[in-house]
Parts: sequence; C-alpha cells; structure tokens
Amino acid sequence: MEKDCNITKNRMKGIIHDFISASPLNTMGNGTDEPAWDRALVGFASGADQIWQQYKEYVGAFHWTPWEVFNQHCPGKNVSADQLTVISWILPQRASVRKSNRSHKEYPSEEWARTRVLGEEFNAALRRHLVESLELAGHAAVAPMLVPNWTIVKSERFSYASSWSERHAAHAAGLGTFGLCDGLITAHGKAMRTGSVVAHISVEPDPRPYADHHAYCLFYADGTCGKCIDRCPAGAITVNGHDKEKCRLHLAKTREYVKKTYAYEGYGCGLCQVGVPCERIIPVKAAGEALKRGELPPPPPPLA
Ligand code: SF4
Ligand code: SF4
Repeated sequence: MEKDCNITKNRMKGIIHDFISASPLNTMGNGTDEPAWDRALVGFASGADQIWQQYKEYVGAFHWTPWEVFNQHCPGKNVSADQLTVISWILPQRASVRKSNRSHKEYPSEEWARTRVLGEEFNAALRRHLVESLELAGHAAVAPMLVPNWTIVKSERFSYASSWSERHAAHAAGLGTFGLCDGLITAHGKAMRTGSVVAHISVEPDPRPYADHHAYCLFYADGTCGKCIDRCPAGAITVNGHDKEKCRLHLAKTREYVKKTYAYEGYGCGLCQVGVPCERIIPVKAAGEALKRGELPPPPPPLA
C-alpha cells in the first residue's frame, strides 16, 4: 500500500510550526513580546531503523528503542517497530540570543538562561501538544522525555547517559551530526534545543545525509578548529571530547550567577555553542554544500 507520506509529514510539520507561531508559552518572559523560538527544523525516522539497536550497543542497553518506549506507555496497541515513526525537531537559537551569549566568557547571558528554562518549558509543551494532536487524529503517541520512568543512568563510557537522548533521535532523523563538544551540528548550527515524539504512524523516513556521525565537525573532518575547547570555561572539552561531569559541575555553578546578576531563577551555559564556526551553519564546506544540493553520501558497506 502506498504511504500517504507527504500529506502526513506536512501536517505534522504544520502542527509544530503553528504551535511555535501561536502559543503564548513561546516567550522569553522578559516583558517584551520576544518569542523564545521562531522556527524549527523537522525530521522523521522509522522505528525499525537499525540505528536504534546501534544506540543500544554504543550508548547502553538502557537507551530505549522507539518500540520499547511506545509499548511501555501505549500498551495493548500491538504495533511493530516499522509501524512507528520518530518525529524530531530542532529549535535553533535566535540571532539575538546567540549574539548575547557570544560576548560571555564564563557564565551565560540572561537571554541564554531564559531560553534554557522558558525555552525548554516551551519545548516540553510542544512535545505534549504534538502528542495530543496526533492522538486526536487517531495516532497513539508518546514523548519519551516526558514519561515518568525517563531517567539518567551512570555510564562507564559516558559518565552518565539517559533512557532517551533527543540529540540521538535528531541524528537518526537526519537532522545533524555530533561535534567535538558533543553538541549536534545541524543545518542551522549547533546553538539549538531539540525534542521528539514517537507515534504510531507510518511515513517515509528522512534520509541521513551523512555517512559518519561526526561529518559536520571540522575537528573530525580535517583536524582543524577545536574552537569549542577554548570557549569552555570549565576545561570540559579537549581533543579527546567532552567531559560531561566537568560540564555538569559548571552548569550547577551558573545558577548562583544567573540569580545574582539577572535576578532570574535560571541557569545555562552554551558558551561552546556560540562564537565557534558551527554556531549557525555546518562549517565543513563540502558537507554543507552537499546537503544544500540534496546529495546523499554512499551507503555504508554491508555488515560482515
Ligand atoms: S567548534 Fe569546531 S571543533 Fe568544536 S564542534 Fe564546532 S566545528 Fe567541531
Ligand atoms: S556547556 Fe559550558 S561547561 Fe559545558 S562543555 Fe559547553 S562551554 Fe563547557
């Protein structure tokens, strides 16, 4: 049977874009009418994609596949993995928010702290809104980050990890690849937040326009850059990658600064996401141009 993909994908994109445009929750909460976000990139991945198993092997067995999280929270539906789609979105930081954080060297700008808190509250509301909209249309759905048993797990390889990673979902949906600092570099850069929903709906998945999970980072592409190393006030980024524990400890310290300096109960950092070549573009020229031309990399060799 032909999949009704275009209409359905467009409809889901429309639900996301309309909510960004119209929801009063999309606010900086600073007495202006500035929104936290003004656009989104949206991608789709199949629940049967092999990449979910690969995440289990790479991140840890505790990382859910779409089928696992859907069946825990929408029991009795009796669906197979290929009847599920992961809808993932990127909320790129606006130019004024990026600019404000660029001049900071140790702690975040007020605007950045506001998008970290209010922007993420909006992101949670967007997850709920998409779930409700799909359910109204007859498609059971779940937002993995919002289920009560989503949890952070200690990991030998990564210090800590979680049952569902939004960045990994976005990577699976063709929206970006990982940088030296662990952030996801997307067509609108690395300064962003991301969210996802798993739904009982079959649409054509989007292709992943990269053969390598580091394809958009200059450091991995040609050994140059490393600018995020210098931007990190906590020494959490080195040529060996991102030290999550150092990052977490620095993030905890930002609460006091944000409260004292801005009289705002927030936190954040993101200094490695701005003032770097990947702030708002894919800095690996060939990869960025291939993406614009709609070219796909050659498929990886078959598993032995
Ligand atoms: S700043 Fe440079 S090294 Fe760091 S993630 Fe971006 S492209 Fe990669
Ligand atoms: S978020 Fe801040 S502390 Fe964490 S790696 Fe980036 S710059 Fe360093």
